[in-house]
Formats: sequence, structure tokens, C-alpha cells
Amino acid sequence: MSYLIKGATIVAMDGAHGAEPFSGDILIGDDRIKEIGENLSAAGVGETIDGRGKLVMPGLTNAHVHSWEAMFKGRYDNLPLELWMLLCYPILGAVPLPPRLVYLRTMIVGMECLKTGVTNVLDDVLEMPTQDLDQLAATFQAYDDLGMRANLSGHIINRPFSETIPFSDEYLPEDLKAKVSAAVPPTTEAFVELAEEAVSRFHNKKGRLRYVVAPSGPQRCTDDMLVAAYELADKHDMAYHIHILESKIQAVTGHEFYGKTLIGHMNDIGALGPRTTIAHSIWVTDEDIAMMADAGSTVVHNAISNQKLGAGIMPYRKLMDAGITIGLGSDGISTNDTPRIFDVMKAAALLHKVSTPDYPQGPTASEILRAGTINGARTAMIDGDTGSLEAGKKADLLILNMKTLNFTPLNDVRNHLVYCENGTSIEKVMVNGEIVVEDNRLKRVDEAALLEELRGHLPEFQKQHAQLEALNSAFRPAFEQIHKRCCGHDLGINRFSRPPGDWYQA
Ligand SMILES: [Zn+2]
Repeated sequence: MSYLIKGATIVAMDGAHGAEPFSGDILIGDDRIKEIGENLSAAGVGETIDGRGKLVMPGLTNAHVHSWEAMFKGRYDNLPLELWMLLCYPILGAVPLPPRLVYLRTMIVGMECLKTGVTNVLDDVLEMPTQDLDQLAATFQAYDDLGMRANLSGHIINRPFSETIPFSDEYLPEDLKAKVSAAVPPTTEAFVELAEEAVSRFHNKKGRLRYVVAPSGPQRCTDDMLVAAYELADKHDMAYHIHILESKIQAVTGHEFYGKTLIGHMNDIGALGPRTTIAHSIWVTDEDIAMMADAGSTVVHNAISNQKLGAGIMPYRKLMDAGITIGLGSDGISTNDTPRIFDVMKAAALLHKVSTPDYPQGPTASEILRAGTINGARTAMIDGDTGSLEAGKKADLLILNMKTLNFTPLNDVRNHLVYCENGTSIEKVMVNGEIVVEDNRLKRVDEAALLEELRGHLPEFQKQHAQLEALNSAFRPAFEQIHKRCCGHDLGINRFSRPPGDWYQA
């Protein structure tokens, strides 16, 4: 199919224009943008779209989401990361989710993404107790059925749980320690074998599906796993996605486990490189930032999740000044509780204004738009294909109606996109040259039927999960103490909006 969009306002996010809007036509053929210019000929074109009063921009990238958590949308509040994880990622008693439920769970994330302008996702897929290939196949199938661009991980943890949290030996009761130690984590060899199979089955398929390696975090994986995963990423030209320094506990973890920061540890073992994308990067030191910049590593900023978990404020301007590429993510669907990137753009733009009175340090709307589009694509290592509107790139784009409340009265298009738009002005969403959303309707799947099917599973699922929450709440007293102790630890940096004061001594 071919399309010509005539006379639109274009925000291309390419090298020449950045976020500066201009008027023009866009010619699309097969899966790619053929040409952008003025007065392009409609000869031989399948469908001409009147672009007058419309804005065309690249599809957004959600560069860090966990579809696993979609089952817990709206379930939790007022918990820091480690206490929330006990409920959302239960250590004890988890049973594998059947592939059909994995499919439906992924679908509700993908459907919301597409309808709100996210055409490309990096879904870091964690399964409890561990991922198998049938579950991974179900996630790929969901995004494939939607017609979305997706980068899906094999999320891996291979250290016993009690070894991933500092001071757990001191605070965890013996009976819980024994239960935790009974679980045998996957070996590096087993993970590499599974990942190789995943690459052959899912990587670089349909022109829009890719597999990603994702060790959970430096403290949650053995060093040989961290290095083997990086070698695998190099071998198959894949992204390497990892959580680093999200919480204050994690900042203390580096010192307790390695006598250095977690970034320093990654650098020393050779796992910090241009493929490394760091989700969060909140509790990084100036030395960490220099190492990340030297390595060419990228960051995904999860501005809403970080606020909901009270994790801290990422040093936005320091990372930008170091030349580090920053993309945007929602993070999991129970710490945000939606994958919408329009929301994250606004939250990120605001969060870093309130964190300093030195107002020029705040993000500009243009910077935020870059983070939500081309820079997000870079963190998934597919910026050569998507993230901007340029001849030769894949046709992943949004057509927005500029006659809506969100754009009236119209002043600066960039500011409207970051501060006024919430996805409701979207008229068409195109991925890989195919229109997959039109007038708020998904064209490839039956949304109502899928939601109905998922609702049918909920009574049983929620009953089982409530039992897991009760079982795993046994860890909570120990984790409360560890959280307080770590928050009071003086590391010489503070990423909370104010220091914890004497709260931790209470
Ligand atoms: Zn995450």
C-alpha cells in the first residue's frame, strides 16, 4: 500500500529540523517513508490523505515497560521499590502463567500503547518464577497481531534472592532464608541456550520484532551472566537492557557487595558499553556518569514510576551535559499504571523543573520530544529504522488533528505536544507503513473481545495472587528495616527532593 499525506504540519525529529515544525507532504510506499517535501506528486499513489489541519510526527517509543505487571494495574500505592516487589514479583509460591494469559496480558499493554501513539516498545518481560519459550512466544504473538514494533526481552535473574539485597542476612528470619535458598536459579549456560533459541525464533522477524537480552540488575545476576549476555548481544546485534541504581537500597548495595558503585562494577567486568541501556540511573555519582558517557551507554528515564515508588530524581541535566542519550519509559504497569508516553513526557518535563530553582537547567519541550521519539529508539538500538520522519526510514508515524481542544488556541506546537496533548488528538497511527489505528479503533484486533476474555480470567487469577501477597508479606518486616537503614546511609549524594532527615532512625 502507498500513501501521500498532503500539506501537513510535520514534526520530523530528524537531524535537520529537530522538533521545529514545517509544512510539507510525506510519501509512503510499502513499509517505508519514500520522500518528504513540497508538492509531491500523487501519481500512482494508493491513497491520498488530506494533511491540512493535521500534525504528523514519529510514533513514540516506550523504551522501558514490563507487560507482566499489567495484571496489577491500579493495585498498589505508597510503597518503595523493594516492598512493592514483594507483592508484584513474589519470591515464594509463584507458578508460571499459562501462555494464553501471557498473550492477553501483553495485549492490554500493546493496545493501550498503540491507541495513545506508542508505536515502538521495549518490553522487558519478566516471568515468575522464570521465563520459558512458550511464554515468550505469546508476548511476541501479541505485538505481532497488533502490527506493532516490539523489542522483547528475556529478563533473567540468576542469584539467589537473599544475595541480591544488602543486610538480608541480618534481618531475614532463618525459616525464610531456608525457603529462599531452596529455589535453584537458572545457570548462565541454560540462559544462553534459551536466548540462542529465542534469537533464532523471534529476532529480526516481520521487519519489526526483535529480541533483547536483559539481565535484571548487576546485583541480581552473577558476573559471568552479565558478561555472557553482553557477548550474546554483540554476537547478534541486540540491545542489552538492565536496571541500575533505581533505589537508595541499590546505591548501598554497590558499596556493600563490591566496595564500589554498581556502574563501577559493570565497567570493571566489561558489561558497560554502547549496547548497555540503563533503566533509571537515579543514584549515579559524577564518576558513574563519566563512565557511562565514555562507554556510550544510554539511559531510559521513567519519570512517573520513579515518583510513584519514591525512588528519587534522576540527575537529568548532568546526564544531558555528559552527552548521554536519554529515552523515556513508563516502567511496569503497576508503578505507573499505564504505558502512555504522552504522560511520561509531561511528567519528565515538569519533574526536573521543580528539582532546582536554576531554571535554565530544566528540560525544554524539544529535548523531551527527542527523548520520546528518536532517543528512545536509540536506546533500543533501532534508531536507524524508526524514531524520526526521514526518507528511507520505516513509516512509523502519528497523524493528529490540530483542531482539538489540546491544540486550541494554537501557540507553540512543541509545547502543545508535551504539555497539552494526551493522545486524544490522534486520528491515525501507522506502523511499518500500515494504518493500525484509525479514529480510536484498533484495526487488526477485536479490542472488546480481548478485554472480555481477560476479565474472564480475573476472579481466579486475583484469588491466587492475593494468596501470594499474603505468603510474601512475611518478608515485609525485614524489608522495612533494610529500607530504613539504607535510606539513612550517607553516600555523599542525595536524589530525594529532601534528605531523609532522622526518619530512618525511627
Ligand atoms: Zn523496570
